[in-house]
Amino acid sequence: MKERIGIIGGGIVGSTAAYYLSRAGYDVFLFDEGTGQATKAAAGIINPWFSLRRNKPWYFLVSEGAEFYRKFMADLEKDGFNDGHIFQVDGALMIRRSDKRYLKDLAQAEEKRANSPSIGEVATVQGHDHLPLLNKDIQATYVEGGGRVDGEALITSLHAAIKHFGGEIIYEKAQFEINDSIVTIKSDSIKQQVDCLLLSAGAWLPELLAPHGYETDIRPQKGQLYYLKNEAWENKHWPVVMPPGTADIIPFNNGTIIIGATHEDDQGYDLTIEKDKLQQLTEEVSQIAPELSNYSIYKTKVGTRAHTSNFDILAGKIPDMENVWAVSGLGSSGLTSGPYLGYQWSELIQNGISTIDASSFPIEDHISRK
Ligand SMILES: Cc1cc2nc3c(=O)[nH]c(=O)nc-3n(C[C@H](O)[C@H](O)[C@H](O)COP(=O)(O)OP(=O)(O)OC[C@H]3O[C@@H](n4cnc5c(N)ncnc54)[C@H](O)[C@@H]3O)c2cc1C
Repeated sequence: MKERIGIIGGGIVGSTAAYYLSRAGYDVFLFDEGTGQATKAAAGIINPWFSLRRNKPWYFLVSEGAEFYRKFMADLEKDGFNDGHIFQVDGALMIRRSDKRYLKDLAQAEEKRANSPSIGEVATVQGHDHLPLLNKDIQATYVEGGGRVDGEALITSLHAAIKHFGGEIIYEKAQFEINDSIVTIKSDSIKQQVDCLLLSAGAWLPELLAPHGYETDIRPQKGQLYYLKNEAWENKHWPVVMPPGTADIIPFNNGTIIIGATHEDDQGYDLTIEKDKLQQLTEEVSQIAPELSNYSIYKTKVGTRAHTSNFDILAGKIPDMENVWAVSGLGSSGLTSGPYLGYQWSELIQNGISTIDASSFPIEDHISRK
């Protein structure tokens, strides 16, 4: 009998794992309720190499994650589920506060390229030469390998691929129970016994584990962004722009630019769009690209990120449970690390090995018995 795989949470982590396991012939049952999903709401910048964070396990996941996108997209393309628009590499412009920092970027690129060849060329440039909406006096570090992913399009493609390979997707809220080591997932319409289970429920992991007597160190963080439209922009291949604040500029398809995203730690799972927060983004962005404040917002998105109290990623086997794993706490960089984490879990299930060193991610720091 084929092994039955249960996955609760169909964002980028769970959907990637479900894709690779259904592709490998496993019986996959993916449950996804969907409300507030971070993946579909995300801005989608993939440019992790120059972050100020000094956390090695995190850096390992995001840098490997950026490399992995190349294989991931090639696999989807081979299977007929990538039209070439999901992930684009058109570079990133990082605007820094000091000249010293530009020199540091160049030095870091040299150091990091050996393990991360996807960085490509890195140079200090006039931003305007790469993205004409930027003020003429703005310098930037240009990273050739910077890219952006359309999270919503990626989920649509992954779900189509999972179904194509025989996986079942149940768009309902689920919970699980364990009796005599047998794991059963339950939703309104289905009760399914599985051989192993991944909890990839993002910011909602605590409510899945609470009935089992666990306290989970995962907090919700609200993120909001908006879209601008102007038919005259031929911006499909403009780079993404990362200024020092939170108002990134993400050229989307021709005629569309995304501005975002906000970070609200005090609003729980609320999904209301707040005009004043969007206005703050506009004020920030108008400092570097004044023309962008002339256009009215035509679409907004809001989602809930998950993070742990010390911003570490939560990944591993649930203490005292057999065959149940969890991945959460991906924070603001989960579109970068998420596919790699999902893929590595699928490798662990298939081959018993993974490149992720469990000792670098002590899950008991974030999940404990009440
Ligand atoms: C506005 C915004 C901008 C962002 N920008 C970027 C960016 O530029 N670059 C980057 O790398 N990252 C970015 N991120 C972060 C990234 O989107 C997240 O870290 C990542 O998508 C998390 O993926 P996930 O699969 O862990 O969780 P999610 O995508 O949140 O998926 C979890 C899923 O589980 C489902 N679920 C939960 N509980 C249950 C249950 N009991 N039963 C069934 N289903 C359940 C939820 O409904 C949801 O669909 C951004 C996030 C936001 C919100």
